[in-house]
Amino acid sequence: MIQTAVTPFKNKLSSALTKQQITVLQINLGKRCNLACTHCHVEASPKRTEELSPEICEQLIKIIRRFPQIQTVDLTGGAPEMLYGFKPLAEAAKATGKEVIVRSNLTIYFEPGFEDIPEYCAQHQLRIVASLPCYMADNVDKMRGKGVFDSSILALQKLNQLGYGTNPNLILDLVYNPQVPADKFSLAPEQSKLERDYKAYLAEHFGIYFDRLFTITNLPVGRTKLQLERKQQHEPYLGFLEDNFNPGTVEHLMCRNELSIDYLGNVYDCDFNQMENLPAKTASGEKITVAKLLEFGSLDLIQEVQTAAYCYGCTAGCGSSCGGSLI
Ligand code: SF4
Ligand code: SF4
Repeated sequence: MIQTAVTPFKNKLSSALTKQQITVLQINLGKRCNLACTHCHVEASPKRTEELSPEICEQLIKIIRRFPQIQTVDLTGGAPEMLYGFKPLAEAAKATGKEVIVRSNLTIYFEPGFEDIPEYCAQHQLRIVASLPCYMADNVDKMRGKGVFDSSILALQKLNQLGYGTNPNLILDLVYNPQVPADKFSLAPEQSKLERDYKAYLAEHFGIYFDRLFTITNLPVGRTKLQLERKQQHEPYLGFLEDNFNPGTVEHLMCRNELSIDYLGNVYDCDFNQMENLPAKTASGEKITVAKLLEFGSLDLIQEVQTAAYCYGCTAGCGSSCGGSLI
């Protein structure tokens, strides 16, 4: 395939990508995970040791308690359930009336020491957003490791038994992301149609129920980027995403109203920028930490979102975010 020169993302926008009032705090608790998926943008694995410290956890709890404007605390990783701070942060957020999202790989429920997690999540009414990149076993195991599909099905059945997917207070959403493109690129299928297919297949074959399906585009970050580079497909993939740029997605981008925090307490506009080490900045160009948010007594210190070429992944077609397609 011919190499494509990608237009800088900023040049594609009709005006600066400004930040709106912060309502979502997404906390990446660290890089340890019981899996090591081929597409992981965090490059997480069981060998990674990075995780939140008690000090940063305390600062985050102060932020959660101090700012009523935060509506959602979104816990991710790695496998957030196995990382320091998971339960104290979830409980602090619930105690202040916030929605708590746990981004779960489901298989963690079968690791020693984490068998109580489904009951814990149900007891605290945590919303579970679980990866299930396909409803076919082969595709899931290829991407995530042998046996992951079967474990995921057992985990979903367990969550259903606890009321997830049917009780309106126990929300269970699934996440679809396509295989990392080999050479023939395509965007995720239409979300509502795929959701119908997932629901029909999982109900018929496994008796599984869930609330919503989110389709997420693979952004060329982390292991996805490494895979693309290995196949010399990184630039062509960016070109493909740029060709599918949809200006209608821009006002809905998740980076506009969220802060993404890393395990060291640094602040970013989103988890992708976090992985690419592109920190959020104040209007005067200073980096931000959770300590600084507390010192200034404000979450709204950022004027403009930091962008890069991989942002085309969020704006291609119907758009993509941690909450699925944007339009
Ligand atoms: S994609 Fe999720 S489950 Fe897979 S290695 Fe990364 S953090 Fe773990
Ligand atoms: S990667 Fe997506 S969410 Fe992150 S800054 Fe770019 S457009 Fe926003």
